[in-house]
Amino acid sequence: MTIGPGLRRPLLLAACLGSMLALPGCAAPNRVAPTPEYYGRADFTSLRKFDAHVHANSSEAAFLEQARADNFELLSINVDYPDFTSLAMQEEAALKLAAADPGRFHFATTFSMDGWGRPDWATAVNSRLDRSVARGAVAVKVWKNIGMSVRNAHGDLVMLDDPGLDPVFRHVRELGLPLIGHAGEPRNCWLPLEEMTTENDRSYFREHPQYHMYLHPEMPSYEAQMAARDRRLQRTPGLAFVGAHLASLEWSVDRLAAFLDAYPDAVVDMAARMTQVQFQSHRDRDKVRQFLMRYQDRILYGSDLTFDPGAEAAGFRKEAHEFWLSDWIYLATAETQRIDDIDADIVGLQLPRSVIDKIYWSNARRTFFESQAVRR
Ligand SMILES: [Zn+2]
Repeated sequence: MTIGPGLRRPLLLAACLGSMLALPGCAAPNRVAPTPEYYGRADFTSLRKFDAHVHANSSEAAFLEQARADNFELLSINVDYPDFTSLAMQEEAALKLAAADPGRFHFATTFSMDGWGRPDWATAVNSRLDRSVARGAVAVKVWKNIGMSVRNAHGDLVMLDDPGLDPVFRHVRELGLPLIGHAGEPRNCWLPLEEMTTENDRSYFREHPQYHMYLHPEMPSYEAQMAARDRRLQRTPGLAFVGAHLASLEWSVDRLAAFLDAYPDAVVDMAARMTQVQFQSHRDRDKVRQFLMRYQDRILYGSDLTFDPGAEAAGFRKEAHEFWLSDWIYLATAETQRIDDIDADIVGLQLPRSVIDKIYWSNARRTFFESQAVRR
């Protein structure tokens, strides 16, 4: 079985942004002016921010230009995903963008499972990681192909806690790099279509039944994927871990809190899972807000915005801007916006400035730069 992409939230949310305010069905914005305690919509551009999860698969300038316009630094994550360009091409694009704007563009490398089972597999992977780090990679990505598609010589799925992966993850720890882990899928993937919480998941799995785990009981369960990830962290203590996509615990801030409590070396990014957070805050805004306040040092803003070779630059820039601004309005302000994927008007969380500064900046800087300097 091959596997699908990162289940990105559709880019065009039809949120009630800017010029779209006149659209029918959009709630009137309850604009709140910036105060010393809270940011406002107008602070979006002026505040330096960090998007800890994007995919710049093309070295064309559009992504960097929009990041400049919206005041973001980027961490572009290379992934061994068949629909992306090859790992070598992803790294070449990353190197060009990093050379063009080294203060703004950063990248994470990854590794291929090709040759898995050969005695020299880990040694070869580690030397390629060394080369990428020498070229500037600040993290290593491990993708959901481990756990969901790569099989060993016996035909069994290779899970994240497989002992054969130990030498690679130990090497990542020795390099002082964080491991960005995308384990499994959103929990929706294991639910029938009618029980899924977001329309983006529902439509994706309706169109891709081959990836809809509810239809494939022979595959590992959601809990089996989470348990394999947790056993990996236990097998490699001290490894700095970034749980991509809210560590696939996007459906429950309680489960996410338990994970962060159990693994003090872990942080999580929010990439492509904001609608799941919004689904929860629509039911209990205070609970979600309190979660983000309590774990304010452990959460990194990320979008999963992806720019592929040949994509239309102006359209991408517009979508990226609207996506980033929608998330900003949700996290930083108390404005209401329509979120079509959950068919609801969502009130922003209005996190204090000090918390926004961590989620949008200092947590990522610490994770990808300062921690490394300490370890090296
Ligand atoms: Zn991604």
